[in-house]
Amino acid sequence: MARYTGPKCRYCRAERAKLFLKGSRCLSSKCPMARPAECGLPGKDPKARTKKPTDYALMLRAKQRLKRIYCMLEKQFKLTFNDASKMAGKTGDNLILLLERRLDNVVFRMHFACSRPQASQLVGHGHIFVNGKRVDIPSYRVKPGDVIEVAPQSKEMMVIKENLQEVEKSGVMPWLSVDVENMKGQFNAIPKREEVTELEGVNEQLVVELYSR
Ligand code: SF4
Repeated sequence: MARYTGPKCRYCRAERAKLFLKGSRCLSSKCPMARPAECGLPGKDPKARTKKPTDYALMLRAKQRLKRIYCMLEKQFKLTFNDASKMAGKTGDNLILLLERRLDNVVFRMHFACSRPQASQLVGHGHIFVNGKRVDIPSYRVKPGDVIEVAPQSKEMMVIKENLQEVEKSGVMPWLSVDVENMKGQFNAIPKREEVTELEGVNEQLVVELYSR
């Protein structure tokens, strides 16, 4: 599956917001967003910052931000949107909930990885089992009741052990449970949209409007 491999901080600069794509580095003074003076729009004329954005620009930004938070490319993101639009209920809510069900996102939310890009890599490299079977597709859609586990031969990986310390510090989302000792967790239920916090500044309704044009 194609994925973006360029500098991730560039995405945060473009969105003028921290997207937390580099784990603990994002919380340190090394984060470029901690030095606002250096954070102009990448490759843009400084005058562009003062222009009032058009409605289209606002919709585009909303879509780019959501897509980048979940580390997806356009084609994959549009396919997820298409699935969301065929489901009953609000398309915007469905979109967020489908994104939350991606295996790489669940691995990140369970603190097996410190960021979504790292989670995607762990899945892609075969370090994750779902219901006892290896799944190496980051976009795999997790169902309620699925058990996500670090592969037996990967349980000694220091990086995963260190990441799991975060469970004690900050806990896990209410629809997940994690057994740190056995490096496994369960996706207990599909969350409600209002339960999906940590998506500050995301307006999924603008994404729906953009794709409905
Ligand atoms: Fe974004 Fe993290 Fe880079 Fe800071 S360190 S700019 S939050 S990816």
